[in-house]
Amino acid sequence: MDPNDVEMRRRTVLRSVPMGAAALALGAVTHEGVAAAAGRPSPEDLREALGHKVLFPGDKRYDEERAAFNTLVQHHPKAIVLAESSQDVETAVRIVAALGWPIAVQATGHGIGLPADGALLINMRKLNGVSVDPRAGTARVQGGAKWGDVVAAAAPLGLAPPAGTTSHVGATGYMSGGGVSFIGRAYGYAADRVRAVELVTPDGRRRHLSPHDEPGLFWAVRGGKSNFGAITSFDIDLLPKSHVYAGELTFPVESAAEVFTAYVAWTATVSDEMTSLVSFTRYPDTPEVPPQQRGKLVLGIKVVHIGARADADRELRPLRAQRPITDSVAEVPIARMDTVFQGPTEPGAIVSSSGLIRRLDARGTEALLRAVGPDAELSPGSVEIRQLGGRFAHRPATPNAIGHRDALFALFFANPAPTPDRVEPLEREQRALLARVGPLLTGGRLPNFLGTEDTTPAAVSSGYEPADWERLLRIKRSVDPRNLFRINHNIR
Ligand SMILES: Cc1cc2nc3c(=O)[nH]c(=O)nc-3n(C[C@H](O)[C@H](O)[C@H](O)COP(=O)(O)OP(=O)(O)OC[C@H]3O[C@@H](n4cnc5c(N)ncnc54)[C@H](O)[C@@H]3O)c2cc1C
Repeated sequence: MDPNDVEMRRRTVLRSVPMGAAALALGAVTHEGVAAAAGRPSPEDLREALGHKVLFPGDKRYDEERAAFNTLVQHHPKAIVLAESSQDVETAVRIVAALGWPIAVQATGHGIGLPADGALLINMRKLNGVSVDPRAGTARVQGGAKWGDVVAAAAPLGLAPPAGTTSHVGATGYMSGGGVSFIGRAYGYAADRVRAVELVTPDGRRRHLSPHDEPGLFWAVRGGKSNFGAITSFDIDLLPKSHVYAGELTFPVESAAEVFTAYVAWTATVSDEMTSLVSFTRYPDTPEVPPQQRGKLVLGIKVVHIGARADADRELRPLRAQRPITDSVAEVPIARMDTVFQGPTEPGAIVSSSGLIRRLDARGTEALLRAVGPDAELSPGSVEIRQLGGRFAHRPATPNAIGHRDALFALFFANPAPTPDRVEPLEREQRALLARVGPLLTGGRLPNFLGTEDTTPAAVSSGYEPADWERLLRIKRSVDPRNLFRINHNIR
């Protein structure tokens, strides 16, 4: 959208706004000054400044706009702002900061931490523009865009973004928690290749962050999620790739143990052009599941190779020697990567937890197999082990808050909870499983894989290296001393 149009619309809205709300929206005076000059700020200031973009409980679209992809957590915010521009975000933050309400930011609700009860929920989903600069090989991504929006803009130009296993995930939430992409061993974390960020901080100021502008805050937002404010856009490098060689090899339960052992050994031999993950998927015994998978365990290895097909085939030879029952590895256009990973597309309640593994020797591989392999009695769901290393292991030239780079594998458990009464038992099962594999884990985690159970300070701090955590706390104290942005995996 033309910035002049945005400014014009904002002025139109503000013409009909009472003194207090207009002053807050424009940032013309301090919050205390407004409170004194125009009486106490009121929630109605939001409606007056932002009109139809504000929803209160009882408004027609309130329930629709508070919904999240992960239905495990239900938000009951005091108000929702459906932001359409960076200015809307600034206006909302200024008014709500004066009210002292906590603030939550949501694009899709895939990575929910806490319910936004009694808070302002800034729903970013309409702020989803993407522009690609094909010459520079970069994209500017607005704060509510999904990876699918970025793929749609970049793929026709022969460029690939560092998306993850589903294009339905929000690009900003993912990037600001690291971002383990399907090209990650060649590219690094998504956060590693960000050139600039536009952030609305809790004082309602829109700031431009880059290696040269506010470098401390630039470091912190690439890892610290919404703890420092709402990201309204970021600029990121794309990879000059229109196709990759990708797909899945699946194996029957009978050979799962042998194949898993072979997979772990294989990861030590492959080039950084190869990114892969292995998963044990237990399908429920229900009629919606195709008969060949119903009630069964399947071991799947998903691979993405960004180099020449001959090199990929050579690297895949040891896995293919394990006699997969299916092998879908083929040239895949970037726009069709969702077909490789087949992530969930419909909202539902997903219980998840995670850990990091530094390395897996023969004993570790056996222990992991005992815990999650064919003989383990686990509920329907998936246990995913992603290979890290490669560029994931290198801190980027302009460092960020993503650490734990010595881990070679990321472990992730996800169980759908078909009914609310299954949530607690599944959480218990995952806790027991984590305890069982505890000796293999580093104790660290990746911010993106923190679940709804991981909201305590101890759990959130495990997403960072200890020295980085201390630095994040210092920056948080100076940027958000009242911890307004606390409806998240909170740095406090
Ligand atoms: C099915 C599935 C597949 C996934 N695959 C991968 C994967 O391959 N690789 C990977 O790294 N992660 C993956 N994730 C994790 C995912 O990256 C995180 O959950 C991420 O936070 C989701 O962001 P979102 O915007 O979609 O979710 P939301 O729930 O909308 O946001 C989650 C959090 O991100 C922050 N956030 C979102 N938008 C903004 C913004 N504009 N400004 C500031 N903060 C913001 C907020 O703290 C918010 O609480 C996956 C998750 C799911 C459910």
